[in-house]
Amino acid sequence: MGVGVGLTVLRQGVVLGSTALRRRLLVSLEINNKDRAYEWFLSWMAHQASTPAARSSIAAPWTRSHQLSVETMIEQRKNGSSSALFKLVAGPGTHWFRYEGAFIQVKRERETRSTQLMSGVPWETVTLTTLSRDRSLFPRLLSEARDLAMRGQEGKLVIHTAWGIEWKPFGQPRRKRPLHSVVLHPGVADKVEQDVTRFLERRQWYADRGIPYRRGYLLHGPPGSGKTSFIQALAGSLSYDICLLNLSERGLTDDKLNHLLSNAPERSFILIEDVDAAFNKRVQTSEDGYQSSVTFSGFLNALDGVASGEERIIFMTTNHVERLDPALIRPGRVDLRQLVNDASPLQARTLFTRFYGEESQEASEGLNRLANELEDIVAEESGKGRQISMAALQGLFIRNSAEEAIVTCRALFMPSTT
Ligand code: ADP
Repeated sequence: MGVGVGLTVLRQGVVLGSTALRRRLLVSLEINNKDRAYEWFLSWMAHQASTPAARSSIAAPWTRSHQLSVETMIEQRKNGSSSALFKLVAGPGTHWFRYEGAFIQVKRERETRSTQLMSGVPWETVTLTTLSRDRSLFPRLLSEARDLAMRGQEGKLVIHTAWGIEWKPFGQPRRKRPLHSVVLHPGVADKVEQDVTRFLERRQWYADRGIPYRRGYLLHGPPGSGKTSFIQALAGSLSYDICLLNLSERGLTDDKLNHLLSNAPERSFILIEDVDAAFNKRVQTSEDGYQSSVTFSGFLNALDGVASGEERIIFMTTNHVERLDPALIRPGRVDLRQLVNDASPLQARTLFTRFYGEESQEASEGLNRLANELEDIVAEESGKGRQISMAALQGLFIRNSAEEAIVTCRALFMPSTT
């Protein structure tokens, strides 16, 4: 009996001792998937495995791991084509790697019994454990992971879409479009740009007066006039992201919408396209008769939101401003309304010269003549009430030589005369 008691005490002692020792000697860091560092860390780990330079400087034995996960990034282009990229990341389980000479254990765990309430994504954590004398490694490692994530986005435009109640980057960051490549009627681009920059400079002014720090813009006009392109280019030039909100999305409710609008990522424009289509009769119905659970009053409430000091910039676009409910476009919800119209003669000319450029003096003379001709066609036709969209002109210029473009442009107007 004595031996039995002795052994039990000894076993308890060993367990307690090893726990105490582990507590003293080891240090852990837990990151859960609600935190942005979660994605950064997993991508950083994947990156260590994918670059030879990184592989040689940092031993990454986790790549020999048997538990891998795949993250597929779908890159969707505006012309409808898409490509998929696969990134192998450490899957749920235990992995090891060495960083600056220290061994770090990574435990990725997934909660299978409960999911995040709104988004339905399972809870996950990664726990990094290392010797406590190396605890200073963690901040360095996380900054490296953050810098890597940021570097991938530098000079790029990130588009976020809603996932349940959260915003997530959609596809790969895209190359920024230069602002001057969107040719608007003279003064239009400047007017909107100046309004946004002036708003951004007046945070304190708003705070002093207790006014919610937000601004709403409505760009209206025919399709293909450059509304979306301009908003994206403007976001890029200010190093802002875009949060694309689709009000007709299934499963979107008033509550979720409210949460999304008040929790957009920092430095981002919220872009709501074709607002008229969403609420043309105050009830939102999609083509197949599905009625969304976002109500018009819920949308207005979400736009008004609870006053908070956080900056919020909303851009809305529509092809039919006359269909919008006056309640939606009152100041406070829409502070600046701007018509973005079909091609004016000058816009057509600018787009034309931007496309065909001036290669030599001689060529530039010929081009000038053609540009004048195009300007005349557009002016003459718009005098008769016939317009051409900038998107149609762009299509024309992509497919044709400068001379052909003029001939085709003239022909384009013909069918409507009959
Ligand atoms: P909208 O949002 O007004 O329907 P988009 O911005 O989606 O129009 O434009 C559609 C296409 O036409 C884009 O590829 C864009 O490059 C081109 N485009 C439209 N308007 C312009 C413009 N004003 N300047 C340059 N390109 C334009």
